[in-house]
Amino acid sequence: MKRYSTLGLLKAGLSGHRDWPRAWRDPEPRSRYDIVVIGGGGHGLATAYYLARQHGIGSVAVLERGWIGGGNTGRNTTIVRSNYRQPQLQRLLEYSLKLWEGMTQELNYNVMFSQRGAVFLGHSDSDMTRLAERGDALRAHGIDAELMTRAEVARLIPVLDMSPDARFPVQGGLIQRRGGTARHDAVAWGYARAADALGVDIIQNCEVTGFSIRGGRVEGVETTRGTIGADRVGICVAGHSGQVAGLAGLKLPIESHLLQAFVSEPIKPMIDTVIMSQSIHCYISQSDKGEIVLGGDPDLYPTYSQRGVPMRLEEVASQAIALVPALSRLRMLRSWAGTTDMSFDGSPIIGDTPIEGLYLNGGWCYGGFKATPGSGRLFAHHLAGGEAHEIAAPFALDRFARGATIDETGAGPKAQDR
Ligand code: FAD
Repeated sequence: MKRYSTLGLLKAGLSGHRDWPRAWRDPEPRSRYDIVVIGGGGHGLATAYYLARQHGIGSVAVLERGWIGGGNTGRNTTIVRSNYRQPQLQRLLEYSLKLWEGMTQELNYNVMFSQRGAVFLGHSDSDMTRLAERGDALRAHGIDAELMTRAEVARLIPVLDMSPDARFPVQGGLIQRRGGTARHDAVAWGYARAADALGVDIIQNCEVTGFSIRGGRVEGVETTRGTIGADRVGICVAGHSGQVAGLAGLKLPIESHLLQAFVSEPIKPMIDTVIMSQSIHCYISQSDKGEIVLGGDPDLYPTYSQRGVPMRLEEVASQAIALVPALSRLRMLRSWAGTTDMSFDGSPIIGDTPIEGLYLNGGWCYGGFKATPGSGRLFAHHLAGGEAHEIAAPFALDRFARGATIDETGAGPKAQDR
């Protein structure tokens, strides 16, 4: 990987970046790899990086049908936290959060991880009881969580409507101070550059269209750029998990739903934490560019289109304005949607499939960005050794058949039942 001195950087800038090297190569696919990872989002790229870095497996290709980070990795609202409800998820996401804390140094790439805190608001006595219980459970598992009084929330987020007759009156909150946001594209680019430097082939514009399977064992993939052989294949395609697994004849307990988000015009800093309300399911943060970033519930019908309904945006905007009335004066800059893979218990699926050598990492619903480093490292462990890491083991696909679901209420397709 070429590194520049300060003078070299200046020269490269003034010469219109003429000699600027590529951050990763653009190789032709080889006819065979030890491991093929399908999907060049954060999860696929992190998996490839850890395969090379942790397990010394350099014969790895990441096959991406479009451009890397063009899926949900580049479409999400970038909230990172580990304060989930279920202990299995707390463990997995805390493992991930610790990796986030060293990611910029590890990749030598600034992923702008900003631990500005993530606050759940409580709007009623029952909300506050649930937040207190969650905080106790988190601390019992060594995860930071502080219950906040109404006055503490008002001090931290002065722009909130704290009046008693507010549409969503605020009684207090629960903060994870180590939570926050990161720059999503940088995560994809950082993993891509580091994986490439370790010999991983990142192949864009290469769609997987089928699998070669013989005697119940995967032998490779069919792609728009030819057949590629592999001993092991990992699927990391988020909203397309059902579709890609379907190419191997598998039917997953996953529905693909749209999740929308939008940003306002950029303004001076006004919100320096992440505001979330699980009772109304609206989340608000401010990007480093100054845009107010807003998201809410998914659209209610399954689809692979990446165009959501305006009704959902209107709902999120009205909730956000009720929480922070000053937002009503902003103009919306742009909105977008991503196809998320909603598992039936709201938890991810990591591990074996019924086909030998074919592994799945999906079902992250609308919460997988925060899991990127942890998911990549745990999936790499599984792909390299053929056995689940103990943190990932509870998320096996066969849990649905065994009745061992991990019901993260409020995160699956029935998010509104929470
Ligand atoms: P992706 O980044 O989607 O990568 C999968 C890749 O697979 C894509 O690039 C796609 O092109 C490729 N692919 C698909 N089919 C094929 C094929 N046949 N052949 C080759 N390649 C293929 N999570 C959080 O933790 N915090 C948040 O704040 C948050 N907000 C969100 C907001 C929105 C609007 C959305 C849509 C999602 C949000 N998420 C959030 C969820 C998070 O973005 C995803 O769970 C996560 O990014 C999934 O990463 P990935 O690498 O698995 O998927």
